[in-house]
Amino acid sequence: MAQEVLIRNGRVVDGTGSPWFMGDVAISGAKITRVGRLDPGDYDEVIDAGGLVVSPGIIDVHSHSDFSLLVNPEADSFIRQGVTTVFNGNCGNSAAPLNEIWKKHMEEARDITVEWLSTAEYLSVMESRGVAINAATFTGLSNLLVSAMGMDAYDRPPTEEDIEAMKEMLRQAMEEGSYGLSSGLEYDPQSMTDTDALVELCRVVAEYGGVYATHIRSRDVKVVEAAAEAVTIGERSGVIVEGVHWGARYPSDGKTKHIVDLFDKAREGGLDAGFNQVPWTMGDDGVGWCGCTLIEPIIIGSKYTKKGAEFTYEMLKDPEVVEYLRNDLPNRQYGPILAGKRGLLDTWDRFLVAHLEESPEYDGMNLKQIGRRMGKDPFDALIDLLVREGEDYERAWGAVGITSRWDTDFSLLHPNCSVAIDSGSDSPRGPLSEKPVGELVTRAYGQFPYFFEKWVREDRALSLEDAVRKCTGLPAQRMRVMDRGLIRPGQHADIMIWDPEEIRNNATWKNPRVYPSGISKVIVNGVLAEEDNEHTGALKGTVLRAR
Ligand SMILES: [Zn+2]
Ligand SMILES: [Zn+2]
Repeated sequence: MAQEVLIRNGRVVDGTGSPWFMGDVAISGAKITRVGRLDPGDYDEVIDAGGLVVSPGIIDVHSHSDFSLLVNPEADSFIRQGVTTVFNGNCGNSAAPLNEIWKKHMEEARDITVEWLSTAEYLSVMESRGVAINAATFTGLSNLLVSAMGMDAYDRPPTEEDIEAMKEMLRQAMEEGSYGLSSGLEYDPQSMTDTDALVELCRVVAEYGGVYATHIRSRDVKVVEAAAEAVTIGERSGVIVEGVHWGARYPSDGKTKHIVDLFDKAREGGLDAGFNQVPWTMGDDGVGWCGCTLIEPIIIGSKYTKKGAEFTYEMLKDPEVVEYLRNDLPNRQYGPILAGKRGLLDTWDRFLVAHLEESPEYDGMNLKQIGRRMGKDPFDALIDLLVREGEDYERAWGAVGITSRWDTDFSLLHPNCSVAIDSGSDSPRGPLSEKPVGELVTRAYGQFPYFFEKWVREDRALSLEDAVRKCTGLPAQRMRVMDRGLIRPGQHADIMIWDPEEIRNNATWKNPRVYPSGISKVIVNGVLAEEDNEHTGALKGTVLRAR
């Protein structure tokens, strides 16, 4: 017989946005069976919530935990912040489908054994290893392009024939449980796929009632045009559109408002459009910061951007390469650093050094300050510091100021915006802890607690109930997962018990692998996954299939 559990004396914040109410929540097996004033005598186990908030577990619709959940099925950094469901395969990159070339590439890049090609195979690998949280996936546009065209995908746009092949693969992925198509049109090889091709692909997704989760072509100068393309794709194909990390980057000139309005208008016309945004970590001056590797300010927007990890230490020491990069700085108007008329030259103060193994005296300073301290141009200072790091220069990380609070709030506070942290799950133990920090890890531990801490408790920009809705009921509804995200009889028992006065992020730029506090218990499918700051080891997550 199923275990009967009662959570007593909770302040129930049910995920709908309605005001909290005092109540007890009964769980039988994996499901919530009753909510109200219930008799504890009827249950095998009673959990006293002691007046803390009892809310649905967090649903992150924009995750990059495709591989990390296989390495660390306990999903440590997610369970510990109350995340009970994630949607992977975002920004055009999913774990499946793969072809043999792409599979080999993934194995080399990620240092893991890939035991699948299709979506069905990927999902069953995850299922057989077990996972602590519920996990769903989109199908990445990159995967379709490379599977159909091989490495040619990086050199030319897809032909009609290629698009037909991609549609077939996408159809198969949808049959096997994918929630839709994701794109990252700012990146190669996806940037060569045009609107018509995307409409063709989204028509397949629409047949299944799926979602087009799009990282649009530009988040800077052309962000409004890029958002309009997402609307066009939705209107022409009939797909559900989800704009991901929805906002214009610094300095936006009010463009975030434009793209939020654009979706409002499109909804009036009947398009099922919504969006999600990351609660960026805010500095004292209202700048929203995002983690980055320190090689980024050097190569970003240059012809070396694509080389990424291949941009070797040797090249940093090659005076010709360094000279090219230096001379190219004024032309670079990429993303976070597009502020000044002189490109990167104006924005060194928006790069923060979090940690250098060989030169820790500069930790916490921005590149402008470091340049001044070293008596050098910030560019030369950074090259010197990276060369000093040696072969492990990629482990040096920092943060880049990418947005303003005003912009972040324009999307984040909108009723149709879910909160997502655009991160991979991480762990301070095992193989994941050995990986360089990079961008994703800096948000992996405490970004949801940070959202509650900053926007609800400190700034009172959102009510507790609204904030919970944005992390639970709303994302579930957007993804059509109608049996999760609420505290209601019949829903799966994914539940978080926490203290709204105590919840806080404890991760810092220098020490990012630190758990948050204020979360008392996390329950996944009726079983305790976290209790009093300990992971119970339970792997009760479900691999979610869209149909
Ligand atoms: Zn993205
Ligand atoms: Zn992303």
